[in-house]
Amino acid sequence: MAENTHYEGGCQCGALRYEITAAPLVLYVCHCSECQTQSGSAFGMSLAVPSDAFSMRSGTPKVWARSSASGHRVACAFCADCGVRIYHRPERKPGTINVKPGTLDDTTWLDPAAHLWTGSAQPWIHLDDGRIRAVAQPDHFRAIRAAWQQRTGI
Ligand SMILES: [Zn+2]
Ligand SMILES: [Zn+2]
Repeated sequence: MAENTHYEGGCQCGALRYEITAAPLVLYVCHCSECQTQSGSAFGMSLAVPSDAFSMRSGTPKVWARSSASGHRVACAFCADCGVRIYHRPERKPGTINVKPGTLDDTTWLDPAAHLWTGSAQPWIHLDDGRIRAVAQPDHFRAIRAAWQQRTGI
């Protein structure tokens, strides 16, 4: 359980360091094919935090923008030296930044509330772990956010 409102993280080579100064809004796992490609792995994770609570402490990420499945632009920020993705900033939710939480210094408290895009999850992943499941993009995050708050006490 995370009780504080201060978190720090950074990229693999150390050029980028960031901090979060508010309670995260929600954490979920995304099994969409974009997240599989981006992570080079089986899924992505997104820790949504208020934009104004996120700041770089050192370095400037390189930004590349892509279109999401719903046609909205997503700015993707990463280290130009080591390539680690730090956050995604969805154009349609300007108040939120989705931090890639594997870059946090302390990941022990992470406890995702939901699995999204289960329709494209790799077949060996066990999704029956009691978390909320959505076959694709959910219409809203109210239930997922409530589950997150219940799980973490944040
Ligand atoms: Zn780096
Ligand atoms: Zn995804």
